[in-house]
Amino acid sequence: MKVMISVPSIKVTPPGPNAKRLISEDEKLLMQSFVRWYPLVIKTGYGAIVEDVDGNLFIDFNSGLAVLNVGHCHPKVVKAIQEQAKKLLHYSLTDFYYEEAVELAKKLVEITPGSFKKRVFYGNSGAEAVEGSIKIARGYFKGQRPYIIAFTGSFHGRTMGAVSLTSSKPVQRKYFSPLLPCVEHVPYPYCYRCPFKLEYPECGCWCIDFIEEWVLKKYISPDEVCAVFFEPIAGEGGYIDPPKECWQKLRKLTEKHGILLVADEVQSGNGRSGKWYAIEHWDVAPDILATAKGIASGLPLGVIVGREEVMTLPKGSHASTFGGNPVACIAAKAVIEVIEEEKLLENATKLGEYIKKRFNELKDELEIIGDVRGKGLMIGVELVRNKDTKEPAVKELSHVINECFKRGILVISAGISALRIAPPLVITKELVDKGLEIIENVLREVCRKK
Ligand code: PLP
Repeated sequence: MKVMISVPSIKVTPPGPNAKRLISEDEKLLMQSFVRWYPLVIKTGYGAIVEDVDGNLFIDFNSGLAVLNVGHCHPKVVKAIQEQAKKLLHYSLTDFYYEEAVELAKKLVEITPGSFKKRVFYGNSGAEAVEGSIKIARGYFKGQRPYIIAFTGSFHGRTMGAVSLTSSKPVQRKYFSPLLPCVEHVPYPYCYRCPFKLEYPECGCWCIDFIEEWVLKKYISPDEVCAVFFEPIAGEGGYIDPPKECWQKLRKLTEKHGILLVADEVQSGNGRSGKWYAIEHWDVAPDILATAKGIASGLPLGVIVGREEVMTLPKGSHASTFGGNPVACIAAKAVIEVIEEEKLLENATKLGEYIKKRFNELKDELEIIGDVRGKGLMIGVELVRNKDTKEPAVKELSHVINECFKRGILVISAGISALRIAPPLVITKELVDKGLEIIENVLREVCRKK
């Protein structure tokens, strides 16, 4: 780990010459279906700091897209990976057994919500965890309940099954139909922009009653629905944390009809929200929980943890050659230990509250901040042109993100016009302060220019 004199530290305005060269090669060789927010070319990372190929240092408020919860290259995780790599790189769990997969499963059943008996399945990504959950849910009912309910505005991945549930931007689905049949979308509990134009708490979480009143009573018989998939905190859709009653009501609704509740915690899991899994904030235990991203510090691993009686797909019906790779399993076990040893859930909670307080203070001062929300270090700051009309400040947001990048802070957007604040859980208050100072200055400048 390097000793930093000052972070951030911008030597050449990014993209510097090395970055430009690499970007031009990337653009010739790779399919350009990615988003790419700004021309950041990473060389290395340590803790909550990233260094680019021109020697610029940035404070990372992205965590490599909510993946590096224990920070970049955590020494304990790196050591565990190195030692495992010398011992066993691969032997397919699809057909054989090894200890690393079982050891991780023991930890996962402990830290996931619900005191019932559980089983674990391993894949390689978030989308694969969602795909597997779809098959588990349909398979549990032996194909007799084909329907799945998901929420508009959600993101569940980009493979064909997962993208059939995804609905946060048209570009994610355009050109790919026909998608999975029997998937119905209902409005996500997005209180700041309530799809029903209601106000919480007077609404009584009508968005959940809507499922019963306007879907299950009107055109889909509940005994044809295998599962409701939901993100406890919407990630890509805007870092939205719905009111407590919402997910509790959803749990009751699914129980009433014998429908499985599937929490997609690919982004919100593994400590990001200040709890192991975000759904714990609602005191709800889903029947199936899908996670990935932060679980193995960047090594490919997708995980499904579900009730023992639900995880019953027959032999040969679902598996994946690399799923539960021993190196990824060992990395995930080390990540869990780091979160425990360094009390990162507590750090995420404490710093998350601090960041929200700072943005809420700024909200009183600046017209551009419409809403501040989230849990732990999963914070959304929605930018608007006008607080009354709530017109999304889309152009301004893009300017803010790019300006922050040039000044050494990495941040991206979520949903319609929210800043997505998701630093590694290991970040210090000192770095948070430096990062916030830059964002606050940029926001003030944008307001002055208007
Ligand atoms: N589900 C959620 C909530 C996500 O945020 C993502 C990725 O952003 C996915 C699923 C898909 O994960 P992956 O990109 O690993 O396939």
